[in-house]
Amino acid sequence: MNIETKMWLVHASCPQEEQIQEAAAWLREGRTVAFPTETVYGLGADARSTEAVAAIFEAKGRPSDNPLIVHLADRSQLTELTASPEEAVLCLLDAFWPGPLTVVLPVREGVLSPLVTAGLSTVGVRIPDHPVARALIAAAGCPVAAPSANRSGRPSPTLAAHVLEDLGGRIAGIVDGGAAGVGVESTVVEYRDGTVYVLRPGGVTAGELARTLPDGVRLVMAAEAAPAAEETPRAPGMKYAHYAPRGLLTIVHGHDREAVLARMRRELEAARARGERTGALLLGGHAEAVPADHVSVCGERTDLELVARGLYAALRAFDEAGASFIVAEACPETGLGEAIMNRLRKAAGGRELHV
Ligand code: AMP
Ligand code: MG
Repeated sequence: MNIETKMWLVHASCPQEEQIQEAAAWLREGRTVAFPTETVYGLGADARSTEAVAAIFEAKGRPSDNPLIVHLADRSQLTELTASPEEAVLCLLDAFWPGPLTVVLPVREGVLSPLVTAGLSTVGVRIPDHPVARALIAAAGCPVAAPSANRSGRPSPTLAAHVLEDLGGRIAGIVDGGAAGVGVESTVVEYRDGTVYVLRPGGVTAGELARTLPDGVRLVMAAEAAPAAEETPRAPGMKYAHYAPRGLLTIVHGHDREAVLARMRRELEAARARGERTGALLLGGHAEAVPADHVSVCGERTDLELVARGLYAALRAFDEAGASFIVAEACPETGLGEAIMNRLRKAAGGRELHV
């Protein structure tokens, strides 16, 4: 696959009309266009067109049983796509749309390409809170299917340069509106029988959801309840390895930070002795705290928003440095920490140490 990938440079807060109109026309013509959202960069295509959506799966190398989230410019578009949401879901939409919350709803027959839903009877939808995404989707005038704009399995892109690195030559265009916002993907929820299930933690935290739900509606974190191998997970994407740098990543957990750093040093020294090129992900402090060929200091343990924003760029930096062995310190799993640790765990594929 080698097509020319066009770049449109736009102002994030006030994107130029001419650029947006051209990118939107490309989407309407069935081409794939990446664009910034307030979570990460998405790879968009007309969600009604099977040919256009097939190009997303092809460019990403994404398994066809992992459905795509459909992005809308405003809520009036929802009625065309789904059955009307229950009261509890409406509460969430009022509170978090536009924003990093995806709701899974029963899809109307025949309105979307079956590739978008991977054959499920439901569709995940959201309205992104980013001026470029909103302007582009509104101008395209169609529902836009948009998974993260990375090769399947890689860390999600938070800059246009990351998209180009992964998908340059494989997609029609990229709208470059600077750095994406939150840095981790949307929270995916589904409501059934008085319970809201969190299928994937993300930019909206469990605490924020709980505070918004009407009395009597339960909130259940379904993401961590790993399904048995033969069982179909509710969010099909949960079964795939994800977000991973090329080197093997190991998470180090512990309440005592000094002990965590000491364990990281030991692991790094042993890896170096084996001839590995080493990397370390620290959440705050100084790079000199550990002896690695490449150290990414990503935010501060006490400021999880900062950690989320820098996480994927930090993981990508290990590839640039050629790291084959990486240790990463864990963060507290409160608030955004839940989404951050969910991503790190998938990147680690089960390699976790406790001190
Ligand atoms: P991505 O597009 O890479 O951000 O991933 C989208 C996530 O949402 C994946 O984990 C999907 O499995 C999940 N998802 C999308 N649509 C649905 C749906 N209809 N039902 C359940 N999960 C969904
Ligand atoms: Mg993704």
